[in-house]
Amino acid sequence: MPATHHAPVLILGSGPAGLTAAIYAARAAWRPLLVAGSQPGGQMTITTDVENYPGFAETIQGPWLMEQMQKQAEHVGTRFVQDQIVRIDLARRPFVAEGDSGDRYSGDALIVATGASARWLGIPGEEALRGFGVSACATCDGFFFRGKSVAVIGGGNTAVEEALYLANHAQRVTLIHRRDSLRAERIMQKRLFDHPKISVVWDTVVDEAVGTGSPIALASLKLRNVKTGVASSFPVDGMFVAIGHTPNTEIFKDQLDMDNEGYLVTRPGGTATNVAGVFAAGDVQDRHFRQAVTAAGTGCMSAIEAGHFLARAAAEPRAGESSSEGTPTGVTRATNSAPLSGRAGESSSEGTPTGVTRATTNNAPLPGRAAQ
Ligand code: FAD
Ligand code: NAP
Repeated sequence: MPATHHAPVLILGSGPAGLTAAIYAARAAWRPLLVAGSQPGGQMTITTDVENYPGFAETIQGPWLMEQMQKQAEHVGTRFVQDQIVRIDLARRPFVAEGDSGDRYSGDALIVATGASARWLGIPGEEALRGFGVSACATCDGFFFRGKSVAVIGGGNTAVEEALYLANHAQRVTLIHRRDSLRAERIMQKRLFDHPKISVVWDTVVDEAVGTGSPIALASLKLRNVKTGVASSFPVDGMFVAIGHTPNTEIFKDQLDMDNEGYLVTRPGGTATNVAGVFAAGDVQDRHFRQAVTAAGTGCMSAIEAGHFLARAAAEPRAGESSSEGTPTGVTRATNSAPLSGRAGESSSEGTPTGVTRATTNNAPLPGRAAQ
């Protein structure tokens, strides 16, 4: 039978943002519950070398870094569950999220750190050939292209990194980019241009991925030069799509404010969303920086803001009403450890206390509604 798990701070996502939020929330004694999602550790688990996360003089590996973050979050008291949230109700408190497993997770404050997912080109052949030569993860699939010819689509850091990684396995790597300059960092560009196995095709888009029937496999790409309009066929064994990411915000549609690309809108200088008690951190609310360190930074901010929110709520003289600043309804004082969820017929499978029990030491003003 599905269970309901409650925590003062519920965190969705186990990338750098969610894990950092968990570390801060746990250390502040808010007993966070973190729902890891279908990609435990987030995007950093699909990369190899990480050279720009501060604190490490030597190059480190993305999956290792995320493992360390998870261990750190566990060490300070975070509870983890492996589930993917498929529905969420932010209209009442506590906020209730429903997992793929059927279990429910409720929180008096919610931190959304669901990150972003790889984008696809949406061209004919792409979907049918996924797993048969078409991929969005070089570190996952590069090994299968040893001695072969592969193309990488895109001009950002990810595309360049994928190309460099693939050059370790493949015989020939071609980066195909729709413009005549890359947006990747200069240091990455230099490595790309200096690599003897890698060449770049500029001003070109892929119109179709063409496969062979039996066995099914990618055979070539139909290319088109966007300046001259000239079409060509490009024989290739693998195509790695690296054209950026889409924020994972589908489940928040019509509940949280988003920009035109689906990124959550947060209050400038903070992580508050338009729903009081809901905070967003990391790539899910960041269309500009999208780095592990910025995700971690906003994760930290979200936990501190969630803590202020709960502390303020616990100090509120009355429950059942929102204040003008949008404090949660139904959140009782800090000394009261009665369940906040108050949902009839539901109980925490883990029997954990569900009230807000942390001593109120910080009554900093709560974020109100996010600036629109
Ligand atoms: P993510 O890492 O995207 O994590 C999102 C989390 O949310 C995942 O755990 C997922 O399972 C979970 N989730 C999603 N939907 C749900 C749901 N419905 N329910 C529950 N959980 C959910 N940055 C750097 O600073 N340095 C680098 O070297 C670097 N290399 C990169 C290489 C690659 C190939 C890529 C793709 C990105 C790289 N980045 C790098 C960027 C960096 O990975 C991201 O900025 C960072 O991971 C964002 O962290 P996040 O926590 O916001 O989200
Ligand atoms: P990105 O920076 O958004 O770049 C996406 C690239 O794909 C752009 O070059 C874009 O072209 C191209 N593109 C987008 N849609 C396309 C389409 N439909 N057809 C063809 N090309 C298309 O995404 P990213 O490279 O994944 O990087 C995301 C974030 O993660 C960035 O902030 C990046 O710095 C970070 N990251 C960091 C590292 C690192 O620090 N080592 C590594 C990887 C990623 P245009 O240039 O023409 O727009």
